[in-house]
Amino acid sequence: KRLILIGPPGSGKGTQSPIIKDEYCLCHLATGDMLRAAVAAKTPLGVKAKEAMDKGELVSDDLVVGIIDEAMKKPSCQKGFILDGFPRTVVQAQKLDEMLDKQGVKVDKVLNFAIDDAVLEERITGRWIHPSSGRTYHTKFAPPKVAGADDVTGEPLIQRKDDTAAVLKSRLEAFHRQTEPVIDYYSKKGIVANLHAEKPPKEVTVEVEKVLS
Ligand code: ADP
Ligand code: ADP
Ligand code: ADP
Repeated sequence: KRLILIGPPGSGKGTQSPIIKDEYCLCHLATGDMLRAAVAAKTPLGVKAKEAMDKGELVSDDLVVGIIDEAMKKPSCQKGFILDGFPRTVVQAQKLDEMLDKQGVKVDKVLNFAIDDAVLEERITGRWIHPSSGRTYHTKFAPPKVAGADDVTGEPLIQRKDDTAAVLKSRLEAFHRQTEPVIDYYSKKGIVANLHAEKPPKEVTVEVEKVLS
């Protein structure tokens, strides 16, 4: 399957995507993770992306389209993929369509993680991440067995630099202004499935499975 996950920061995309990936053997491409790795490695791309990311603004379309174009060439992405956090602008969606047209394939479903802004601050400020695996915890909603450590490896968890209430505000502004139109773009194609992303994680998983079955 070829899937896109769209939702505001903290809506649960990163929590649901490993489950979808394991069930359908897809490649999982998260532009946020790829950009953070580039920033940490101080690559030319990372250097260009850092300022916008720190402010909670979107990185330029050309940069992210380039990353995705490259990543989609991986053999593991040929049979299907989950795009998590991409496309985030209508221009990115159009570029993606051009890429897929060339291969004679198209997006099957767009999962819209619909949720009220009011819930997101608590989710974002309580988020803890195991950097090497991408596993995500939450101090209140998904606490690790040992505080501050990953359940599987015991390695330390980190908090993202942009997971503050102040930066969340600009990330939400960017979402409403630039990314919500992407949902309309795919609605016109009749491939959007709306999820109740405010429900507990397991209930969201059940909804995802219904949509994909
Ligand atoms: P979240 O987990 O909050 O949904 P991400 O990890 O997907 O956030 O993205 C973190 C940051 O990386 C964004 O605030 C933005 O600066 C940048 N970014 C990620 N994906 C894109 C994209 N498709 N277009 C532009 N910028 C992006
Ligand atoms: P996104 O990738 O969309 O930014 P995440 O999946 O990282 O969001 O979730 C943000 C935070 O909220 C994480 O700390 C995660 O553990 C928690 N979380 C995810 N889904 C739910 C849910 N359905 N209910 C409560 N908390 C959740
Ligand atoms: P890679 O997986 O590309 O080897 P790393 O796991 O070494 O990259 O991550 C480099 C840095 O990027 C980490 O120290 C962490 O700060 C950040 N990072 C990586 N993945 C994530 C993620 N899923 N969420 C938040 N930050 C991440």
